[in-house]
Amino acid sequence: MFLENAKHSGWIEVICGSMFSGKTEELIRRLKRANFANQRVQIFKPALDNRYSATDVVSHDSNTIQSLSVDSSQNVLLYATDVDVVGIDEVQFFDDGIVDVCMLLANNGVRVICAGLDMDYLGNPFGPVPALMARAEHVTKVHAICVKCGQPAQHSHRLPIVQGEDKDKQVLIGEHDKYEPLCRHCFNIALEQEQVTKK
Ligand code: ZN
Repeated sequence: MFLENAKHSGWIEVICGSMFSGKTEELIRRLKRANFANQRVQIFKPALDNRYSATDVVSHDSNTIQSLSVDSSQNVLLYATDVDVVGIDEVQFFDDGIVDVCMLLANNGVRVICAGLDMDYLGNPFGPVPALMARAEHVTKVHAICVKCGQPAQHSHRLPIVQGEDKDKQVLIGEHDKYEPLCRHCFNIALEQEQVTKK
């Protein structure tokens, strides 16, 4: 599907899904293939995502690849020079300008691969990801497994144990202890139960 040796043809790929769905693993897999094809690859992630490492894109199976942390979408443009492929991890945390940056890169012949959450913990579309999905040539939605019923999961449900000032953040960094992957059915049940508890 994705030809590593396609010259002079920029495009945008989006890999999205819930937490624990293997987005970063899929991003790394594609970037490694580009590397094997001797393409110049540059990887970015938002500076606020500093769990594990400041310079590596790290997935949960410790598959790592060097990356650059940047604090704005304009800096992606600034550092994405002389590259064939740009990878962007945790793209949901970038400002809305990331959409134009990806468009510009793709229009100039760069293959842009973005990975990120498509929905926040309430099930709302997350940041610039919906707009990126609309403009991308290829969208891959990956799924985790629902911890309640074993079906494919698309929701990152925040566990009710999250309290205090963390409660209002759209999605918290750091994972296993704060979120669980749920399918549509189990997510709706969980939200209903939380509403009941609040009353
Ligand atoms: Zn379920």
